[in-house]
Amino acid sequence: MSPLQVFNTLSGKKEDFTPLTAGTVLMYACGPTVYDLCHLGHARMAIVYDVIQRYLRYSGYKVTFVRNITDIDDKIINRAAEIGLRPEQLARENTYNFWRDMHALNITSPDIEPRATEFIQAMIAFATGLIDSGHAYVSGGDVYFEVATFKQYGKLKKQDLQELVSGAREQVRSQSALKELKRSPLDFALWKSAGSGEIGWESPWGHGRPGWHLECSTMIKNVLGETIDIHGGGEDLVFPHHENEIALSESLHGHPLARYWLHNSFVQIDAEKMSKSLGNFKTIQDLLKTYSADTIRLLLLQTHYRGPIDFTGESLTAAGHGLQRLIRATQAVSSEEAAELIAAATPETSELDFQIMQKFRGEFTAAMDSDFNTASAVAVLFNIADQIFLETKAQTRLSYISALTSIAQTLGLTLEDTSHKVGNDTASGIIELLLEIRASARAKKDFATSDLIRDRLVQLGVKLMDTAGGGTEWEKS
Ligand SMILES: [Zn+2]
Repeated sequence: MSPLQVFNTLSGKKEDFTPLTAGTVLMYACGPTVYDLCHLGHARMAIVYDVIQRYLRYSGYKVTFVRNITDIDDKIINRAAEIGLRPEQLARENTYNFWRDMHALNITSPDIEPRATEFIQAMIAFATGLIDSGHAYVSGGDVYFEVATFKQYGKLKKQDLQELVSGAREQVRSQSALKELKRSPLDFALWKSAGSGEIGWESPWGHGRPGWHLECSTMIKNVLGETIDIHGGGEDLVFPHHENEIALSESLHGHPLARYWLHNSFVQIDAEKMSKSLGNFKTIQDLLKTYSADTIRLLLLQTHYRGPIDFTGESLTAAGHGLQRLIRATQAVSSEEAAELIAAATPETSELDFQIMQKFRGEFTAAMDSDFNTASAVAVLFNIADQIFLETKAQTRLSYISALTSIAQTLGLTLEDTSHKVGNDTASGIIELLLEIRASARAKKDFATSDLIRDRLVQLGVKLMDTAGGGTEWEKS
């Protein structure tokens, strides 16, 4: 196994990575709350944990990667009410949208993807266990976790209980109703009562729904077990979400929830922290209309996952140029030439392949073993590309190319040349333009041109329908 080191938020330093069971990694990352389309922050988190699990598998670990879907939450209920859908309809629609975005970004599917609503009974059992052991209490149909019963509370955020209590007191001063229900402002809901017309489930405490922190704790315990190796998420989840997951799980079973806590930094758009309220909300779908998945991934991987990224049009364009350089490098031997070279392979050429692969894999693993330093790993790719452009022998270029594509794949970069592909918007625009030219040709009685355009479009599967008003409708079959 590799001498991997990871930065553990819990200890605040880099540590040797030693999983609970040698050779296997149990890993969990908090997934999306499906109330809206995914944005760049989701893309970064998904790509970070995608690359981490890809690299762990590449290093020889047997990985079980779990990423949940939060499909019941106040945000979902509120948004659904705003747009006149049932909460489960909105959640289902956005789950599909999320899957489509993940697929488009070349994110490997998790091994297990539990949905919160599939674990309601397990959550009720988890909360009951905490009530029975004196860590939680029922109040007004809700169930709250009593933070004061977990002495290590604050160990992930690195603040002691007293500081946290005074911070929370400020926040809830105006929420007098909650103040009545909770014994301390830090206590948080495991179960919230719901009105009879609202979405909810029957429980020992009446009709209601689970709180978010309980969801993750329960799903980890039921799907992976009491202690996992890696728990990941965005740095905005450290407090209160992950602190609360620790408090719930460790109060229930007394074992560490996770051995290593990894947190990725956020994405800033044009230097302002990305936020819908700032009006710079960019969905993944918006971005993929203009930039390839490889371009977005390359830009994100050029920064270490714990560093913030300034996301600008210029940085995307620069990443696109870098990507083109890597793609051109893979094309430095034509496929015909490559077939001939492979057919003529000798023990010497195999040895050359092996040595080149070893050298660059060595540099790549050194980078990745240092807390998944993808910025240095990407530099290895550009280094190989430089060698390819300098190399005069086709056989050696081919060896470099196989090293380049193999390492790129481990990072989830396809290096596919998509420059000749056009998006649907562009294709529609071109068809509209051709129809305008055809209309103008017909007006001039130039039927040869008009028929040529129609015939060629029909060959491409575009069906034209001349309308009574003299216009033309089209559809792609
Ligand atoms: Zn979570």
